[in-house]
Amino acid sequence: MSDHYNENDDINSQEKKVITEEENKNSDYEDVCFVCRRPESKAGKMFKLPNNICVCNDCMHKTMETVSQFDYQGLLHDPQFQNELDQITRQGGIPNISFVNLADLQGEGGIPNKQKLKKKKKKEGSQPVLNIKDIPAPHKIKASLDEYVVGQEQAKKVISVAVYNHYKRVATNTMDEIEIEKSNMLMIGPTGSGKTYLVKTLARLLDVPLAIADATSLTEAGYIGDDIESVVSKLLAAADNDVEKAERGIIFIDEIDKIAKKKNTNTRDVSGESVQQGMLKLLEGAEVEVPVGANSKNAMVPLATVNTRNILFICGGAFPDLEEIIKERLTKTASIGFNSELKDKYDKDKNLLSKVTVEDIRKFGMIPEFIGRLPIIYTLNGLTKEMMVQILKEPKNAILKQYQKLLELDEVKLEFSDGALDAIAEKAMKRETGARALRSIIEEFMLDIMYEIPKDDNIGRVTITKEYIEGTGGPIIDIRCNQALEDMDKLKITPIEEG
Ligand code: ADP
Repeated sequence: MSDHYNENDDINSQEKKVITEEENKNSDYEDVCFVCRRPESKAGKMFKLPNNICVCNDCMHKTMETVSQFDYQGLLHDPQFQNELDQITRQGGIPNISFVNLADLQGEGGIPNKQKLKKKKKKEGSQPVLNIKDIPAPHKIKASLDEYVVGQEQAKKVISVAVYNHYKRVATNTMDEIEIEKSNMLMIGPTGSGKTYLVKTLARLLDVPLAIADATSLTEAGYIGDDIESVVSKLLAAADNDVEKAERGIIFIDEIDKIAKKKNTNTRDVSGESVQQGMLKLLEGAEVEVPVGANSKNAMVPLATVNTRNILFICGGAFPDLEEIIKERLTKTASIGFNSELKDKYDKDKNLLSKVTVEDIRKFGMIPEFIGRLPIIYTLNGLTKEMMVQILKEPKNAILKQYQKLLELDEVKLEFSDGALDAIAEKAMKRETGARALRSIIEEFMLDIMYEIPKDDNIGRVTITKEYIEGTGGPIIDIRCNQALEDMDKLKITPIEEG
């Protein structure tokens, strides 16, 4: 380090700094905090120290705090030192401390890209289908959902209206005398009926951050398991640590029926009723301090304050045995008097679940305060065979379309006969895991096709038949030239014959 002060040096270094910042923006790498190892995208803007050392805001503050508590030979009471410290704080930087030039010790470049993490590329030009600032009318939201989600008309309608009201309330911020209540939702439906899918699609269409949490992993603070606030932490991560963005997000808590009050227990119910109690303030809207980039609070993790007032909570669960409770209630009221009905009348009722009332859910084991904070309750129907067939071929990213696209890249046409679709749906119904079974069934028989087809360049079309699905026959394979002749036939073109 030279003792002579050279003005040119200063100008050069300033220029250099400008260039490096510019370079940094364009480079594929991002800085990593020297202390806590978090990248810039997580920890926020970094303080740049000489030799490519970066320290994040949190760590810098912690260091400054520690230093300021350490009263070195009464420095803190020295007015001159105080003056200098003030100046530093105002400049928001580090004073003229000269660091040992590590670059001199390590040769050219100093600490190279080891201090940097590859940046995640942002998708360019991705516009949300629906804009929450100018929220479209419910029927438009539903129309967008219709493109992806088959059936579940009532659920789509309810969710569209609720989301419309919620974001209208957020956008206009009408919190004066007439306070519009939050439209948190409780979604009840059998497994594989599209609960998660519906919420995921909605969040994607609105382009709001979404956190999907599992209620089974939550426990009361202090016990083994995730703290309840970790759901907000997840949302913050989904919003790239942007608190403002997270505060407009959606939190989906799946398997909510698993935190029902346990019956006949003498021990403390740390993963049931206590979790419901703990969630009350989150659902209603509260300022919570959440750890950034971790599931639990500890001394090393910086905290961020998130207000949950505008976060939309959607809870979902299959609620097994709820049907029994509904049935019991319905038969009890109906079996008295002249109009008494047969006891087994509701046994075969497919839409029994849609007759659910708050009382039934309370009986199931949810506490009244909890249900009260989820004012919108709706049910999803179990999937029928027809719906399964529709799910296979109709949505924008239907499974069949995905496979057709894959084979199209090999210039092979993939077709399914109607009988085949029926057979797949029937097989899926037997597994009783809803639409989730469709994918696994298709994977099973597509494996052979995906393996064999690329072997032979002459294959132009594969038709999956009912027999192939049922294991009694094979698919119909068309050779490329046959197919071309057929296509010509369709277009009424006669091939030119020789001679
Ligand atoms: P769950 O209700 O158990 O949360 P999911 O939402 O995870 O079920 O559904 C599993 C998969 O089934 C989804 O990824 C989706 O592809 C498909 N699926 C389920 N229901 C529908 C539906 N109504 N329309 C279109 N696809 C559906």
